[in-house]
Amino acid sequence: MISEEEARNRVLEAARTTPERTVPLSKALDCFSAREVVALLALPTFDNSAMDGYAVVASSCAKGARLRVIGEQPAGRDRQLRISPGEAVRIFTGAPIPAGADAIVMQEDTTREGSEVVVNVDVDLGEFIRRRGADLAEGQKILERGEQIRPTTIALLASQGFTDMTVGGEVNAAILSTGDELVTPGKKLDQGQIYDSNSMLLQALMQGCGASVTSVEHCPDQREPLFKAIRRGITNHVLVITGGVSVGEHDLVQTTLRTLGASIDIWRVAIKPGKPFLFGQANECAVFGLPGNPVSAFVTFLQFVRPAVLKMMGAGEPSLRTMPARLTVDLVNEGDRPHYVRGKIENGAFVPIGRQESHALFGLNRSNALLRVAAGESLKSGEIVDVQLW
Ligand code: AMP
Ligand code: MG
Repeated sequence: MISEEEARNRVLEAARTTPERTVPLSKALDCFSAREVVALLALPTFDNSAMDGYAVVASSCAKGARLRVIGEQPAGRDRQLRISPGEAVRIFTGAPIPAGADAIVMQEDTTREGSEVVVNVDVDLGEFIRRRGADLAEGQKILERGEQIRPTTIALLASQGFTDMTVGGEVNAAILSTGDELVTPGKKLDQGQIYDSNSMLLQALMQGCGASVTSVEHCPDQREPLFKAIRRGITNHVLVITGGVSVGEHDLVQTTLRTLGASIDIWRVAIKPGKPFLFGQANECAVFGLPGNPVSAFVTFLQFVRPAVLKMMGAGEPSLRTMPARLTVDLVNEGDRPHYVRGKIENGAFVPIGRQESHALFGLNRSNALLRVAAGESLKSGEIVDVQLW
């Protein structure tokens, strides 16, 4: 049995990034940038009006001033207008500021009288002018290599005139569930059988990472079909097998992998739930064997599979997001493995939820966070702890 940290390091070391590719911005959501990107354009790109109103010279604009309107500047082409004290230009939001103007009076604070406008408020220098570069300077870094592309990132890149970007590569994954007791949902359940829920769980988790799930198969605890299913699975970048990785006579995954020439790099990790975790490599495929118990499969996916898949896709930071939370109960881990306690974040507090057993799927579904309690650790109610969000 190896430590959780060592297992994660080994898995991450083995995870090879797939070849980067250039995609249109419209296809870049959730991908990871393969480049550092700097701004080509300042934002705002030119001084412009934040309001519909009048461009004025602030120093000639005390409350009650009457100004001659010498022209109009809508958003769009710059009409190259110029004003002097005592004059105003009718202006609209986003329009370039006429030369000589140094403030905008908003329309609601004026009275238009023919070719003149009366200013009904005091005007401050620079008011309602959005200055060139105030948000973003040319040459400023807008994206780190490995950073995930969010909708707002796409907007920022579009504001620079980019049409596409270079992102990390795709990851193809196969899911294989094993176990004679498993029945695919939709089929009839006999005595002693259960529905295969892990296939769906792992498919969803994998898709949540942004990987393409190319196949989801189920296989009984029999050597021949398992051999064939694994052989098909390892043509992908990643194969995730669930069930059959333990020590029982019906746990055939490990021996079958060896028959196929796979290396078994990890078997059994000090983590609860999830001890019988397996990691190996077959050809170019990273093979994960997750315990069949749903919570164990879930926890080991998040701690080992997810970071590996994200790294393959070019992620700079493959760990789960964490946040500090106030613990609502005392927690003691008397075991010799770190324990991932399932809980819920409510008003900044972490509340353990559901039965903390590795088959307890109902409780798992009500949780949204994991608290890692180290072996031998004792935590007190009211303490601030770091929890992982998922
Ligand atoms: P195993 O890891 O094969 O020893 O299975 C451990 C436990 O998880 C057993 O109670 C199995 O019935 C259950 N289990 C295994 N695979 C699945 C699955 N795909 N969906 C739901 N439960 C499973
Ligand atoms: Mg089994």
